[in-house]
Amino acid sequence: MTQKIAIVTGAARGIGLATTKLFLETNWQVAMIDRDEAELRLASEKLPNTVAIPCDVSIPEAVQEMVSRVQTTFGRIDALINNAGVAVFQPLEKTDFDVWRTIMATNLDGVFLCTQAAIPALKESRGSVVNIASISAVRASTLRVAYGTSKAAVVHLTKQLAVELGDYGVRVNCVSPGPVKTKLAEAVHSPEIIKAYYDAIPLNRSATEQDIAETIVFLCSEKAAYVTGQMIAVDGGFSAGGIGLP
Ligand code: NAD
Repeated sequence: MTQKIAIVTGAARGIGLATTKLFLETNWQVAMIDRDEAELRLASEKLPNTVAIPCDVSIPEAVQEMVSRVQTTFGRIDALINNAGVAVFQPLEKTDFDVWRTIMATNLDGVFLCTQAAIPALKESRGSVVNIASISAVRASTLRVAYGTSKAAVVHLTKQLAVELGDYGVRVNCVSPGPVKTKLAEAVHSPEIIKAYYDAIPLNRSATEQDIAETIVFLCSEKAAYVTGQMIAVDGGFSAGGIGLP
């Protein structure tokens, strides 16, 4: 059987690291990508069948070089997981343009750049792309305009690419996590907001990184061979929008 290769961005920790581990369990090899070189190398050293490639996904030349390195190392790409993301809490009137640009640069430009660079290899393998958006894409974000808008754009990009790449057998889907206890979530949410989220989740618990990884890996598998252009919310029912039944 052909050895399958995944690129996972933002793989040094959190959802990206959990996704890397799950790919390894299903016998894929993984190119782990992150701009935090020290944390990336630390994570990758413990994981056989991975290669660590430091790269900032918002820089076009760095992304081109990263994809060439993956090609040289493995000779193919079967899945691209656009997971690297940044979040900052800023209400509209306090959102300065630099912060807006920084968020768009990673959360949106990064998805565009990595996908564009990997497309020739993905066409060859009839592979798939999974973009990580957020429930902030479909409901007003507690982090406010920049984060929510960047993630809503990722959902649209997913649909656009699925249509554009369908002829080549390349599938493009999107996973929108609800709150997951990661460094990113803990850094940007107050304990009150975190509690309010959990109170509104029908399944009565926050997501684990593993919950999100399971859906990502499923979407890259043959079991999802007829699924493309979709957003799957992995949020314990939060975006269903209920307020709890009496
Ligand atoms: P995290 O902060 O734990 O990990 C994100 C990783 O991405 C870090 O290792 C960071 O160094 C890397 N990264 C950031 N910008 C980068 C760039 N420009 N180039 C390369 N690497 C970069 O975050 P997480 O919680 O695991 O989030 C992963 C994804 O899931 C993000 O896209 C995030 O927006 C999304 N998400 C997270 C939650 C949550 O509650 N944690 C909820 C919804 C969506």
